[in-house]
Amino acid sequence: MNDVVAVARRPRPTGTAEFGAIVIGAGISGMFMLYRLRELGMRVRVFETGSDVGGTWYWNRYPGARFDSESWTYGYSFSKELMQEWDWKEHFSPQPDTLEYLNRVADKFDLRRDMQFDSTVTAAHWDDAAGLWTVTLESGEQARSRFLCTAVGILSAHTLPAIPGRDRFRGPAYHPARWPHTPVDFTGKCVGVIGTGATAIQAIPEIAKSAKHLTVFQRRPNWAAPLHNSTISKSEMDAIKARYDQIYAHCASTPMWFIHQADPRKTVDVPPDEREAFWEKLYAEPGFGIWLGNFRDIGVNEEANAAISEFIAKKIRQRVTDPAVAEKLIPKDHGFGTRRVPLESGYFEAYNRANVLLVDTLCDEPIERITPLGIKTSRREHELDILIYATGFDGVTGAFDRIDIRGTGAVQLKDAWAESPRTYLGMLAEGFPNMLMVLGPHTARGNIPQAVEHSVEFQAGIVRFMLERGHVRVETRPEHVAEWTETVIKAAEPLLSSKVDSWQTGVNRNVEGRTVRRVLGYNGHGIHFRRKTDEVAKGGYKEFLFC
Ligand code: NAP
Repeated sequence: MNDVVAVARRPRPTGTAEFGAIVIGAGISGMFMLYRLRELGMRVRVFETGSDVGGTWYWNRYPGARFDSESWTYGYSFSKELMQEWDWKEHFSPQPDTLEYLNRVADKFDLRRDMQFDSTVTAAHWDDAAGLWTVTLESGEQARSRFLCTAVGILSAHTLPAIPGRDRFRGPAYHPARWPHTPVDFTGKCVGVIGTGATAIQAIPEIAKSAKHLTVFQRRPNWAAPLHNSTISKSEMDAIKARYDQIYAHCASTPMWFIHQADPRKTVDVPPDEREAFWEKLYAEPGFGIWLGNFRDIGVNEEANAAISEFIAKKIRQRVTDPAVAEKLIPKDHGFGTRRVPLESGYFEAYNRANVLLVDTLCDEPIERITPLGIKTSRREHELDILIYATGFDGVTGAFDRIDIRGTGAVQLKDAWAESPRTYLGMLAEGFPNMLMVLGPHTARGNIPQAVEHSVEFQAGIVRFMLERGHVRVETRPEHVAEWTETVIKAAEPLLSSKVDSWQTGVNRNVEGRTVRRVLGYNGHGIHFRRKTDEVAKGGYKEFLFC
């Protein structure tokens, strides 16, 4: 019996359970990580803050929450049986259906028996002498394991606005990422929403339908384009099922693993009326085509980006009746597609309703404080019954920072990454042996479940490799960390998105120290990333150090 399995099977010392691997998080990443590690014969324990599986889709139950990517590219592909059994009901699945899907997966593969819910991990410390991780929960309970797998999500550390008086509001206040499990009734209520990111853009049209009055407090507007969601008929779903292999193979060949592929032409080479016709076509189509299926230079060339931004601005002016409101909804500080584009269903038309008011807190009415009755701006007090903080997340590294993770020499991960994450392939962090990261910083993402599957397969490959050879420890090699960090930073350089503040560049002014942009993801082509990871695996993981 090799050492990893031996650790997994060793009787538990009193008080501290021991596992082959501990997985933090029972979302899409943690569920699949558990499935694969179990297949390797490991004793695994998943710790999850929530009371059930689902991660993002467990927490984000706000009205209007749904996929922005085609449902039939957003499921797991590891089980053909599962793919054939599950029918997506809509092209862009609403949150309840997605959560039902993840519950079905958990049931089918009996995942819950290795999961411990209502269990927040507060610390994970590497014991170099023992070659084990010690994980501590909020309750004080501890467990040890050979491997620590972080499946914490890139958008799970939600942030509340740093506005004075936040605790004084006397009505209910919600962050969409901690939405109540019973539906919130807005009927007859005056509702306030702070924030106009992707979350608010989905929620606002829904809330506006039933609220007596809705006030949207917008600091900076975001670009958004129509989702054009629709239901999937039985025959359409059957046809999708018959083509799943082709669909997933196609996604694997695109830059971000979505179905969309950039048009090979450059905006600047296409005559204006031909461009306009192309953009009209994309704007009328469902999904991310207007962003990812657009001319290939919109994300790197200022002139091209200004042209598509002007097209989208024109659409906003056409859809919003009041020209002054339309102007406020048009971003001036960043170009279209330089942040992940929120896809909307009637967002702009919501501002044509008599019960919806847009308050521009940047130019017209800065927020001074939150009061027991509502929000006091420089002009007046807006009285509210319900307040919603759609103020986003401390993206990518935020969820890591909330855990006291310490590696070799008791170095804290938060400190090690203060200037920039240092990883190899975003899979293992420098100085943190046996810590496998699903969707860690500096890895490739885009279509999240496909990125998760790729990441887990690679990491399960490392574990298998170790089990077969009796290795007990894996860590990065400095020269490869240096090379990968440079590759990631270089890949981001030409992108206009790198010059914009967003969770993707690590800026969040509600979090201390999050004012400087950092590169947090691998922005090269998805094919290059797959090729690189395949080469590393085929070459026997020589880029890592084992013992
Ligand atoms: P976000 O895009 O970061 O937006 C946060 C919003 O809150 C911004 O408008 C921001 O304004 C505002 N804000 C933050 N702090 C504030 C403060 N102190 N005072 C006033 N306004 C404040 O966050 P998000 O909307 O939650 O979306 C994050 C990401 O989640 C998206 O980019 C997307 O990747 C993902 N998401 C996906 C879907 C989906 O369709 N599947 C749905 C929702 C979210 P400033 O811009 O001025 O900072």
